[in-house]
Amino acid sequence: MDYDVLVIGAGVVGCAIARELSRHRRADGGPLKIGVLEKEPDVSLGTSSRNSAVVHSGINYAPGTLRAKVNVRGNAMMDELCAQLKVPIKRIGKLTVALTESDLPGLHKQRNQGEANGVPGMELMDNAKMRTIQPGIEGILGLWTPTSAIISSFGLTIALAENALANGARFHLNSEVTAIDRGEGTLTVTAGGKKFTARVVINAAGLHCDEVSAMAGFAGAKIWACRGEYYVLDKRLDGTLKTLIYPVPGPNDPGLGIHLTPTVDGNILIGPSAAYIPEENREDYRATSAIMADLRREGLRLLPDLAASDFIRSFSGNRPKQTPPEKGGNADFIIEDVSAEIGTSAGFIHLLGIESPGLTSSPAIAGMVREMVEKHVPLAERDDFIAERPGFAGSFSELPKEQRMDLIKTDPEYGEIVCRCEQITKKEIRQAIENPLGARTMASIKYRARAQMGRCQGGFCTPRIVRMLRDEYGFRPEDFFVRGGAPMFFGNVRDGLKGGEAL
Ligand SMILES: Cc1cc2nc3c(=O)[nH]c(=O)nc-3n(C[C@H](O)[C@H](O)[C@H](O)COP(=O)(O)OP(=O)(O)OC[C@H]3O[C@@H](n4cnc5c(N)ncnc54)[C@H](O)[C@@H]3O)c2cc1C
Repeated sequence: MDYDVLVIGAGVVGCAIARELSRHRRADGGPLKIGVLEKEPDVSLGTSSRNSAVVHSGINYAPGTLRAKVNVRGNAMMDELCAQLKVPIKRIGKLTVALTESDLPGLHKQRNQGEANGVPGMELMDNAKMRTIQPGIEGILGLWTPTSAIISSFGLTIALAENALANGARFHLNSEVTAIDRGEGTLTVTAGGKKFTARVVINAAGLHCDEVSAMAGFAGAKIWACRGEYYVLDKRLDGTLKTLIYPVPGPNDPGLGIHLTPTVDGNILIGPSAAYIPEENREDYRATSAIMADLRREGLRLLPDLAASDFIRSFSGNRPKQTPPEKGGNADFIIEDVSAEIGTSAGFIHLLGIESPGLTSSPAIAGMVREMVEKHVPLAERDDFIAERPGFAGSFSELPKEQRMDLIKTDPEYGEIVCRCEQITKKEIRQAIENPLGARTMASIKYRARAQMGRCQGGFCTPRIVRMLRDEYGFRPEDFFVRGGAPMFFGNVRDGLKGGEAL
C-alpha cells in the first residue's frame, strides 16, 4: 500500500499527528494519503490509556526546553480541540504544595519556571488562601495554576483517531512494524506481514521508539521503561477533591510524586509510583503488592476516611525514559527529522522519550511534526476538513433529563441500562461496538462507553456485553479478547444449549 505519510504508533501523539495531517492536502492538489500502523488491536492501548490524565500547566520543565514549549502550547489548544472532538475536560486548577520549609526552594523554582514558560494566572497562596480552594488542605505555601485540567486521555486519543479517519486517514490495527527499508525517495515499512511505502515515516512508537528508529538505521536512541502504579478509588468520594494537589517534586525524581488526582468520570487516582523495570518487557504493566501497600498508606494519610472497599482497582503505565535508572530525572523530548543521518532521500521523523507531559503536549507536537513533514511533501489546508465529531461529550447519563428523554424517544436502547455502576445504556454499548475504527476488544468497548469501569468492575455488565456480541454480532468464544493476546474464552462449558444459556 502506498502512502504519502505513515505514522507508526496510535497513541495520543500518533493520533494527534494523523488528525493534524488530515487537515491538509498536498500542495500539488492531490489528497494527502495518510496511514497509521498500530501493533495492538485498537488505538490507545499503550501509555495513552495509562496515565494521570492531567493537562499540565507547564511549571515543571526548564525554560527553553521542548517539553516546556509544547506543554504550554498544548495546554492552550485543549479547550477548542476538546469542544470539536466532544472530549470531556475540566479546568479544575492545581495546587503544588510545600509541606515544610525544605520544599520552598523547589516550589519557587516551579513558579520561576512557570513564569519563564508563559504559564498564565499563577499565584502563590498561604494556607488560609489554599483552604478557600481545598478545605482542610495542609501545607505552608502553595502554587496555584488555574490552567491545569483533567481530561479523558483515552477519550482524546480515540476521538483524534476517529476524526482523522473521518478525514481520510487509514488505520491498520494489529500491524506491528518489524522492518523499515530505505529506498529511493520512499521508505518501505513491513507491518503485520504486509509492505507499506511512504514518502515520510513518523515514528511515534512510545515505549518502542528506539527500536523502531533502529529498524530505519538510527542507532543513537535508548529507552528505559519506568513504571507508575495507581489505585483507583470509588466514585463515593467524588467531590472530595476540588482541585489537583501535588507535592513539590525533588530534583532527581523520575515522576512528579505520588498525588491524588480526580478523574473526569468522578473517581480519584492515587499514584503514580516511579520504578524502573527490567529491560526484557517494557510493557510489563503489573501492579506490585509492595507499591500497592505504599499507595494505600499514602491514600489513607491524605484521605483518612477511606474504607477498604473504596479501593476498586489498580493499573499501571510505563514512562519511556531516555535517562537510565542510575541517573533518574528527566531528559528533554527529542522530535527530529533524521533522514540525512540514516541516508535516505525520503523523510524519517522520530519522537523519542515522549513521557509526561506528552498527553498535554500532543496537539502542539502534532503541529510541529506537520511542519517537518512539509519539508518533504508541501501541504495546503483543506477547505473540506471535518473539524467536529458527532455526538456528545461524556456519557448519556450526564445529559440533562429532557435531552435524555428525547434520545430515548428516538431510540429505546437509550432506555436500557447495561452497566449499572456507570449507568451506561445499551445504545452506548452498541455505538462502542460499532466504532468506526472497527476495534472489537472488551477494552475497546470499555474505553468508548465506560462500561466495566465502575465499582463492580464489569461483574454485572460483562456477561451482558458478551451476550450482545455473541447474539447480535456473531462472536464465537475464540473472538473475545480483553485487549489482545490470549482470548477470554476457550469454548462452551456445555454444548447444545440455545439463546442466552450457552457460551
Ligand atoms: C504513569 C504516567 C503518568 C502520566 N501522566 C501524564 C499526565 O497526567 N499528563 C500528561 O500530559 N502526560 C502524562 N503522561 C505521559 C503521557 O501518557 C504520554 O506522554 C503519552 O501517552 C505518550 O503518547 P504516545 O502516543 O507517544 O505513546 P503511546 O500511547 O505509548 O503510543 C505508542 C503506540 O505505538 C505502538 N507501537 C509500539 N511499537 C510499535 C511497532 N513496532 N509497530 C506498531 N505500533 C507500535 C504502541 O502499541 C502504542 O499504541 C504520563 C505517563 C505515565 C506513564
